[in-house]
Amino acid sequence: MEDRYSDLEVKTCTPDQLHPKPDTSSLVFGKYFTDHMLEVPWNSQKGWMKPVISPIHDLQIHPAAKVLHYAIELFEGMKAYRGEDGRIRLFRPDRNMARMLNTAKRASLPAFDADEMIKCIKKLVQIDKEWIPHSTTSSLYIRPTFIATDPSLGVASPNQALLYVILCPVGPYFTSGLKPISLMADPQYVRSWPGGCGALKMGANYAPTIFIQKKSELLGHQQVLWLYGSDHQLTEVGTMNIFVFMKNKNGEKELVTPPLDGLILPGVTRLSLLELAREWKEFNVVERTITMKEVIQAHEEERLLEIFGAGTACVVCPVASISYQGHEYTIPSTESSLSQRFYKAMGDIHYGRLQHRWAVEV
Ligand code: PMP
Repeated sequence: MEDRYSDLEVKTCTPDQLHPKPDTSSLVFGKYFTDHMLEVPWNSQKGWMKPVISPIHDLQIHPAAKVLHYAIELFEGMKAYRGEDGRIRLFRPDRNMARMLNTAKRASLPAFDADEMIKCIKKLVQIDKEWIPHSTTSSLYIRPTFIATDPSLGVASPNQALLYVILCPVGPYFTSGLKPISLMADPQYVRSWPGGCGALKMGANYAPTIFIQKKSELLGHQQVLWLYGSDHQLTEVGTMNIFVFMKNKNGEKELVTPPLDGLILPGVTRLSLLELAREWKEFNVVERTITMKEVIQAHEEERLLEIFGAGTACVVCPVASISYQGHEYTIPSTESSLSQRFYKAMGDIHYGRLQHRWAVEV
């Protein structure tokens, strides 16, 4: 096995290979890429080959490559932040690498050494650090990707694969404050099911959701609220985990998020918000199934306080309304909301205003 940082080969761009950096104000998510990428090839005979950082380039793969036929592909999404002190930090990269290893196992792709991979990613971020916007509302999105590349149409475990990492500077998700979004909740569409792969970050989970997302946009909504089961359990919102903040029937405040029962992606943001809220000890924090019936009842009894999504892209995203079975439910939102508080607490860690064990210096 050579997937080791000590074997890393670095070939940096010549001056004419460097790309101009986009204006921070025009950073559309995922459109601009930095100058370099990391690649670690693997094959079943030799195992992992040495990692290489080189100028970003197109990939050359055989038209029979398994990724192109059976979607043997997975990815991760994490970020590097330029702190107010100028230092660059990753947020809980160990969590992303652990999730990536879980996904790789189910995708029949080989395991790798997570710590060595983090070291290689840190080096890539260091090399392209000038691409990280000098702004405490922007960041560098890191996209580790893993594909099966062997030129063989057999529906079988891959014998050849490529793990690579690309980087995109990203601007603020919300240009002016947190903007609540409207959701379409239609139980006829299901994102994930028991025994399936909804808890893993495979490209194959995302392709079928785009059509439904477009449908929600045509109906005037911004995201899909994914429901599951005959009791219409809330599972996720778009590509975010969902949180419901409400008063229970005893009048106690409760933060509810669906459990990691195999239907939802174990978000790093979800985990972090749960851990923060449990440290605060100000309200009940519960991982349990929550249904539309319960949300509507809380709404009718004015016990519903907030609903928000949580994910790396936006940190938190408040929900303004849910369209469900012919009704449009308006979700309360306040200036001093819990989502605002989470947003600030996470930002303090990301941008180094608070020294925290989750922020890993590059
Ligand atoms: N759910 C889904 C389906 C996602 O794609 C993502 C984004 N990775 C999340 C939740 C949020 O996960 P994280 O907080 O790790 O970004």
